[in-house]
Amino acid sequence: MPGRVIVVERRARLTWAERLYLPMILKGLYVTSRHFFRNLAGWLTGRRTAFVVQYPEERVDFPDAFRGMPVLVQLENGQPRCVACGLCEFACPTDCITIVPGEIEGASIERYPEEFDIDLSRCMFCGLCEEACPEEAIVMSREVELATYDRGSMLFHKKELLVPEKLLERRLGFIRGDYERVHAPLARREG
Ligand code: SF4
Ligand code: SF4
Repeated sequence: MPGRVIVVERRARLTWAERLYLPMILKGLYVTSRHFFRNLAGWLTGRRTAFVVQYPEERVDFPDAFRGMPVLVQLENGQPRCVACGLCEFACPTDCITIVPGEIEGASIERYPEEFDIDLSRCMFCGLCEEACPEEAIVMSREVELATYDRGSMLFHKKELLVPEKLLERRLGFIRGDYERVHAPLARREG
């Protein structure tokens, strides 16, 4: 739905009432009081009139398009879906991804990330890593509670980044539609 456009008239010359200021102050007090009493009535009658979330007891269910911290998709066998191709590392504008690739001899998909680090103190949640990944192996989660006391704690390693695929289904479904992919990548790592 397109946003509503409000045209604010800013006349070069103020009217005599505006120059007095008092009518404008009263008008401001009227608007503030109207909101105050409307919210008070809503609170007294149990009908909320304002959008208030009692955080942290209550949480907002973010829409699927929401971009929280990037995480790695973990398959049922506990392995990351990532094949350490390095495309996300290359696409990241802040250079906050570091991948050390490894190989599993004899497996159908030999490459895997031996190490996969994201420095979230530099990440700007842009989602370019997710867009670049051909395997749907890195996706933007809903996690935004990342406060720490030092920058070092913002360096997330592979085991902290892995999130079971089941918990990311909504986002995976969303990006499949958004990037016009017809199906999930066929590659699955063997156990
Ligand atoms: S969300 Fe953007 S900044 Fe963060 S790791 Fe991905 S590409 Fe880099
Ligand atoms: S997360 Fe995706 S793009 Fe990044 S290295 Fe793994 S497979 Fe490649």
